[in-house]
Amino acid sequence: MIRFFNVTFNYQGGGGVENINLFVRNGEFVFLVGPSGAGKSTIFKLIYMEEFPERGHILLNGYNSQEITKSDIPYIRRKIGMVFQDFKLLQDRNVYDNVAFAMEITGARRSSINKRVLEVLRDVGLSHKKMKMPWELSGGEQQRVAIARAIANDPFIILADEPTGNLDDENRDEILLLLKKINNQGTSIIMATHNFEMAKQSGYRIIRIENGMILS
Ligand code: ADP
Ligand code: MG
Repeated sequence: MIRFFNVTFNYQGGGGVENINLFVRNGEFVFLVGPSGAGKSTIFKLIYMEEFPERGHILLNGYNSQEITKSDIPYIRRKIGMVFQDFKLLQDRNVYDNVAFAMEITGARRSSINKRVLEVLRDVGLSHKKMKMPWELSGGEQQRVAIARAIANDPFIILADEPTGNLDDENRDEILLLLKKINNQGTSIIMATHNFEMAKQSGYRIIRIENGMILS
């Protein structure tokens, strides 16, 4: 569960979000739609606790942004899966190691890492590419690796920031389908996009944001 209570945050030099209230239930799939500069990525940074509200507070699965300590943050982040427009894969590691790395930093045991990496690569349909390097993959495949990495630690939520922004229509539909499948297994998803049509077609709830403010 994620809940924003009158959250305001400003960057130095202007820009940010203003008096944001939002509520995402466990298991929900929500679109965050708005033009470039609207504040979508800022909302993700606040959820990921890269930034903190200047005013208001955020509840995140029982944690309160006003009460958490520095040492809580790694545990909270472990349960949030991030997916980006530009994939952000490690270029010097193969597919398997990109996913395994996300689990190694949590201190998971080697045997459980191996089992889980193979499992999530199967879930995203990339078992046969596990030894490939990122640059040997198409954009759609790279995004599927990023999604495998995001789900490896069993997050309660995935924050997908314009995940289809660099993809053609066919790959876009495939990534959307994959996120739907993950959502159907119980993981909440917030997907940011400037593509209102895509969000509307999905039938999921849409939160519209513009100039740092929620419109509806
Ligand atoms: P979106 O993801 O919807 O395109 P952002 O959340 O990235 O929008 O940005 C919202 C506003 O905050 C914009 O006006 C942007 O210029 C500003 N902004 C974003 N990141 C920074 C930053 N690191 N420093 C200063 N201003 C920023
Ligand atoms: Mg953005």
